[in-house]
Amino acid sequence: MRITVIGTGYVGAVHAACMAETGHEVLGVDIDADRIASLNAAKAPMHEPGLDDLLTRTVGSGRLRFTTSLTEAAAFAQLHFICVGTPQRPDSPAADLRHVDAVVEALAPVLRPGSLVVGKSTVPVGTAARLAARLRKTAPQAEIAWNPEFLREGSAVRDTLWPERLVVGVTSERAEEALREVYAPMLRVGVPFFCTDPSTAELVKAAANSFLATKISFINAMAEICDASGADVTTLAEAIGEDSRIGRSFLQPGLGFGGSCFPKDIRAFAARAEELGVGDAVTFLHQVDGINIRQRRRSVDLARALVGGSFAGRTVGVLGAAFKPESDDVRDSPALAVAAAIQAEGAEVRVHDPAAIDNARTAFPDLKYSLVIPEACEDADLVMHLTPWQDYAEIDPAVLAGVVRIPLLVDARNTLDVHAWQRAGWRVRALGRPRLG
Ligand code: NAD
Repeated sequence: MRITVIGTGYVGAVHAACMAETGHEVLGVDIDADRIASLNAAKAPMHEPGLDDLLTRTVGSGRLRFTTSLTEAAAFAQLHFICVGTPQRPDSPAADLRHVDAVVEALAPVLRPGSLVVGKSTVPVGTAARLAARLRKTAPQAEIAWNPEFLREGSAVRDTLWPERLVVGVTSERAEEALREVYAPMLRVGVPFFCTDPSTAELVKAAANSFLATKISFINAMAEICDASGADVTTLAEAIGEDSRIGRSFLQPGLGFGGSCFPKDIRAFAARAEELGVGDAVTFLHQVDGINIRQRRRSVDLARALVGGSFAGRTVGVLGAAFKPESDDVRDSPALAVAAAIQAEGAEVRVHDPAAIDNARTAFPDLKYSLVIPEACEDADLVMHLTPWQDYAEIDPAVLAGVVRIPLLVDARNTLDVHAWQRAGWRVRALGRPRLG
């Protein structure tokens, strides 16, 4: 099939490359000319494992190319995926739909008759219906469907080629058939395919992210109780996670979630529920958000207490800037929020990250950065582990102890082998584990 992918960021670049990998002829579109040039040169504009290889193969084969022209895209295909950003509005918790609206507005007059426009962006329930009404004015033969995206940064290529499920919200059999054809390679190997109406499809995404965020904040609430009662949250998480009704995943206690999805998606969902007159049904999402943000403050409070009540004149080595490992994305990164808060209280903060330094420097130009772990931790009074990259699990704590001024560690992600660090002479503290030190 011929398809276009409009918006080539973390979702769109991967979607375009994976669609070409499965045999489709794909044209990617973006308003960012630098990004298009990079993609046409088969160079991923972001750190995403496997994407460079995929681009080399698919761009090289001629099945994938990129353009800045939406008019060219409209002429190229009758099936268009929208993957543009839907950030939080600057002035409210609701979703900012201006990019999605702009794409539909620009496409409407140039679409070929019978085109299908498929949204992948995360949007408030009711968006597809509103856009369909808009399309009816100038492109009455075109249709809108919604096909929410569930990929995770860091494993986006795998998640797209081998998704756990596909969800499509359509209003005609023709649209369902087209999407079944797009995803035929996945359907052949038994990927569950949920075909429903657009509102349900939009809500599946909001509900999934809300549930996952709730699980994270639940375990972080338990960490606070553990801190107050002398219990250990890591054992608690493992023990409740063994219950198959609960499950182990997303019960990692620590600094909480960030990134470009969970925080803004739960806020947008609560705001949309409010608009629909059912805000009371999801008031818990405000608490999920509050508990999450509180972990950043708790980490700073813990660190301050450890260095004697004030950061003034202290040096802090920070391990991690990305919002999660295997990504260079620093949007709403908990690690950088903590690093910046500590620096604002007078510490010299040096941040290490294996992939996100460039983006971090753009977002927080006043922090100091290093690409080398020992350099970031040199003469540090405290080391803070804030993003759980595998690189940090592989640190030899005995070697790092020889570099810092004081071997004092906050494992804000609860993923390091803290007993190995203790054996190497480190004093270790972590949220929800008061007995550690
Ligand atoms: P992003 O900011 O990385 O990429 C968006 C891209 O759209 C940018 O390259 C931007 O230049 C481009 N764009 C903006 N306006 C455009 C226009 N008018 N025409 C063409 N291109 C335009 O965003 P993302 O992280 O890829 O997320 C995209 C959507 O997918 C969002 O709704 C997000 O919530 C959702 N989503 C993201 C993830 C994730 O892990 N990042 C996962 C699932 C769903």
